[in-house]
Amino acid sequence: IAALIDWPIEAIDDAGLALWTSEAIVRATSGTANAHFQVSGVEIDSRDVLPGDLFFALKGEAMDGHSFVETAFERGAAAAIVDRPIRGPHILVKDTFTALQQLAKAARTRSHARIVGVTGSVGKTGVKEAIFAALDRGSNGQAHRSVKSYNNHVGVPLSLARMPERAKFGVFEMGMNHAGEIASLATQVCPHVAVITTIAPAHIENLGSEEAIADAKAEIFLGLEPGGTAVIPADSPHYWRLRAAAEKQGAKVVSFGTAAHANVRLLDAVQAPGGGSLVTADLGDRRLCYTVAAPGDHWVANSLGVIAAVRAAGGDLGAAGLALAEMEGLKGRGARHTINAAGGTALLIDESYNANPASMRATLAQLGATKATRRIAVLGAMKELGDFAPKFHAALIEPIAAAKVDYLVLIGDEMAALADELGKSAGSDLGFAAPFAHCRTPAEALEVLAQFGLEQGDAVLVKGSNSVGLGAVVAALVEGK
Ligand code: ATP
Ligand code: MG
Repeated sequence: IAALIDWPIEAIDDAGLALWTSEAIVRATSGTANAHFQVSGVEIDSRDVLPGDLFFALKGEAMDGHSFVETAFERGAAAAIVDRPIRGPHILVKDTFTALQQLAKAARTRSHARIVGVTGSVGKTGVKEAIFAALDRGSNGQAHRSVKSYNNHVGVPLSLARMPERAKFGVFEMGMNHAGEIASLATQVCPHVAVITTIAPAHIENLGSEEAIADAKAEIFLGLEPGGTAVIPADSPHYWRLRAAAEKQGAKVVSFGTAAHANVRLLDAVQAPGGGSLVTADLGDRRLCYTVAAPGDHWVANSLGVIAAVRAAGGDLGAAGLALAEMEGLKGRGARHTINAAGGTALLIDESYNANPASMRATLAQLGATKATRRIAVLGAMKELGDFAPKFHAALIEPIAAAKVDYLVLIGDEMAALADELGKSAGSDLGFAAPFAHCRTPAEALEVLAQFGLEQGDAVLVKGSNSVGLGAVVAALVEGK
């Protein structure tokens, strides 16, 4: 075993060291096992089960995981957690969701890892992935992270339960729709380092004001381990509010950004040849120069938070620089594609996964910064803005004008407010008059784009809330249909 210590975690699991034994699960959940077994993973979706996994039969609003236990076993599950006896190796518990939380707690209690928790209005997944990449690289593959955007009341305990005992670092994303949710997640994760990426009007529908959003994100500090560090955005209008909340929990505060008081402070950022940025940052006791492959000013800001978090977690800053230099835009969150267009190729920026006023602004600025002959923005509605929706959609006219957009395709009812604004603007002070089409569906948007005709040298930004379904537009453009 000693010889295996520096192997990547996956390799150790392959070598037969289990993630959980049935005995450990019984201890954690007070359940009853009908067999002795070991599992190498934890899964709640039968379609994603891999051989050796432990399948939790959770009950959702529409589905009951108990109907999929058989499928899970067919796919090679080693055992299942159930609330009624079944055929096959299992542990019987009163409530399977409670059991998942109990296993998460056991994972956290047995762990010696340095734990980083990430929340914020935008940029959580990107920042989580970058912190993970840095810590994993600096520890010979001994870091663990939550996958995708598994950041809610199910995703967080699931991600914790998946953490190997030998992990040296753990990085977890935490999200919320309502006040109180981050507190509950943070007290499960118990981070040593709690990161808030940004405060912006996302989910404002439920929270009412940006101050309320800041307070809800600051709940992450309630879970901090004693002596833990809060990493907060120095340029946020809510900086002092976040700082006060962190200090109330006895946290050490490290801020990042451009403000003079930032502990990880931006000195300089210039555009790198590949579209990313060359960044110089002042860490107080030293300067750091690194490349950020992901394009855009928002990624310059995110990278400062990543550096602050990696340092607070005791990770390797050299590895952080290398990780940021390699990390390109993720699918739906800034991934860039070269697509076919009349006479050659065009650039496609895939932002189809997520949209709110802050991320719209950041990515329109990115579109504006491209050296394209024509800039085309395909913009879907921003969801979960409630009564604020018309105001925030209409206000997009300003970043659209600043980005010098040549053609606009708008999708969704919420975009009517922006269409009105565009109609009025031609004669207004803004003097901005890009032609636009307002569509109801992504399919209609594709037709409009086909009529418009993409040409060599165009740049196309596709962005909207995930539920608008602009992933289909990206897929069709990439396939060159
Ligand atoms: P979700 O709540 O859906 O899990 P998230 O907070 O995890 O979202 P990401 O998926 O990392 O956010 O990023 C979503 C989008 O937000 C990106 O595609 C990008 O457009 C934008 N974004 C990322 N970081 C920032 C930032 N610091 N400021 C503004 N916009 C940002
Ligand atoms: Mg996310």
